[in-house]
Amino acid sequence: MMFFLEKNDLPELLRRASAYFEIIAPVLVNGEPQLVSWRGEDLALGAPNPLLPPTRLFLPPRETLFTYLQESGLYTFQVPQVKERLIVGVRPCDLRALSLLDRIMLSEPADELYSKRRRSTAIVALSCTEPSESCFCAQMGSGPEAHEGFDLLLTDLGERYLLETGSPDGIMLARLSEELLERGDDAEKRALMRESRERILSARPWLSQERMRSKLREIDWRSMSRECISCGGCSFVCPTCHCFTIADLGLPDGERIRCADSCILSGFHRMASGANPKARPEERLLSWYMEKLEYMLSRAGMPGCVGCGRCERVCFSGLHKTDLFR
Ligand code: SF4
Ligand code: SF4
Repeated sequence: MMFFLEKNDLPELLRRASAYFEIIAPVLVNGEPQLVSWRGEDLALGAPNPLLPPTRLFLPPRETLFTYLQESGLYTFQVPQVKERLIVGVRPCDLRALSLLDRIMLSEPADELYSKRRRSTAIVALSCTEPSESCFCAQMGSGPEAHEGFDLLLTDLGERYLLETGSPDGIMLARLSEELLERGDDAEKRALMRESRERILSARPWLSQERMRSKLREIDWRSMSRECISCGGCSFVCPTCHCFTIADLGLPDGERIRCADSCILSGFHRMASGANPKARPEERLLSWYMEKLEYMLSRAGMPGCVGCGRCERVCFSGLHKTDLFR
């Protein structure tokens, strides 16, 4: 179902939805767009995609998996509550990243917390009509248009949005604000998406994904890695990175925590014996790319890069990983 929604009416639609969901939406925090718990602030849907991706709302940088309490030698455990949430402004590249994470985190044995969060989260996606300079979703086949994985989809048409429903929850949400909606069609959207796609493709002459993979074997990783300070920033903002480490904090009572980890960090591959098969930065950099372009493809059936450009935006060394593929 397609509707037109005046831009001024979107906050009211979200206010009504907030009776059922915690609303998480992009707003400007110190001038930077961030996904935060929305309390009626101005929405930053026209700003660039937030640096910390929405996938981190499903697999947070640090979280408590459970707390444990010991009494007379017996342990009791408490797992965190998961709220019903509505995430607003999820871009097509991040939807693709979520579907990749689903294949990994929900394959048996499914990750319990991730699975609960997925089940209790509704998504209002946003078509990318104004791609950023660093975006290459069209080259990776993940944008700029969303085709699946959302409950509602917004497309900015200037004065108003085209609002499309993508699931029964989306239809329920649209019904909450029926009188704000007018029957719509996607003629204007189709023209805008064509334009956006052409802009992304022409900004970056690109290698085919097959050629990218073969190019991995031709790159001088040693000289390239001289620019990398192994800070892990590229992994922590990447919507498809999902490695983590686990620690128990506190004895006899305490909590088990999970923190994001990255194969680009020097200690990631170190074993209990102290041996480190990937001690050199060039080995880790190559393995990061192999993971994105080869291993995830064979493990999950889709490449581990969705072309969001965040690794390029965040890199402290000015090492633009995606330049390799131009
Ligand atoms: S590798 Fe870079 S461009 Fe690709 S999905 Fe990760 S952060 Fe985005
Ligand atoms: S963000 Fe840049 S410097 Fe930091 S680990 Fe990634 S490539 Fe290396």
